[in-house]
Amino acid sequence: MINISSIKTHMFCPMKLYIQTHVDTEENNDYQLAIEIKKLKIDIQDLINKNMRKIRKEMTITEIENELSENINIFIESSTNAIRSMELNLESSQINEIIDNTYFNIKITALRVKQAMNILEKDAFAITDMFFPNCMYSYLLKDSQLELIGICDKIEIIDGKYYPVSIKSSNPPLKGVWDQDAIELVAHAILVEEEFDTEVFVGFIYYEKIAEKRPIIMDVNLRKGLFEVMREVKEITENNKLPNVKINSKKCKNCKYKEMCIKN
Ligand code: SF4
Repeated sequence: MINISSIKTHMFCPMKLYIQTHVDTEENNDYQLAIEIKKLKIDIQDLINKNMRKIRKEMTITEIENELSENINIFIESSTNAIRSMELNLESSQINEIIDNTYFNIKITALRVKQAMNILEKDAFAITDMFFPNCMYSYLLKDSQLELIGICDKIEIIDGKYYPVSIKSSNPPLKGVWDQDAIELVAHAILVEEEFDTEVFVGFIYYEKIAEKRPIIMDVNLRKGLFEVMREVKEITENNKLPNVKINSKKCKNCKYKEMCIKN
């Protein structure tokens, strides 16, 4: 069974996947930490959604921002303390990034809500669906025939159609999405199709640093690309194939395996 997180690691660097699978035998909490951070971000979104219901069209932008921010700080503090108590190595820089992204998102949301309330002449309570469509978060998807498993960050359901969404904390490209993000998303799209017996034509990557959701068409080429990557992942994880990689100094600089990898 291939986990979509292995596909993600492979797209970053096949050697990293090899080391993670066959060399790094120490217990690895990174995956668990990533899941906890994603859960926290989802809960923050829920809280913003709840706060939005109290916003009235007469409010100023500053009042809207204050309303959307209610209890956010306390919630982030208690949740990050809880994550640390699980002995997961949550760094201060990661917490600061979560706080910065949250308040950036609140500012953008406040402007958009104000504009929408003015145009539609409605309070926020009546238009929350525009900002928070019906959706499922952290949905575990699995297909035994494809031997593929993964957790989709978010699945939005609009007029009976399903739209997988991946939430990314990385810097966005100038336009479109990164190849690795597209491959990961098409894997989720295929699993969504199997799970809900539907067709997925479009998915989205949400780059939280700029609070922007970018669409990806789930076309044949992207689907073929996924199966090619899955084949390579299997070669590495199941057949112990040592991959040939081109050294990319930018990636290697931030790679946790750089010493292990370069030495050997
Ligand atoms: S150090 Fe570079 S080549 Fe080695 S695993 Fe990391 S990213 Fe890949």
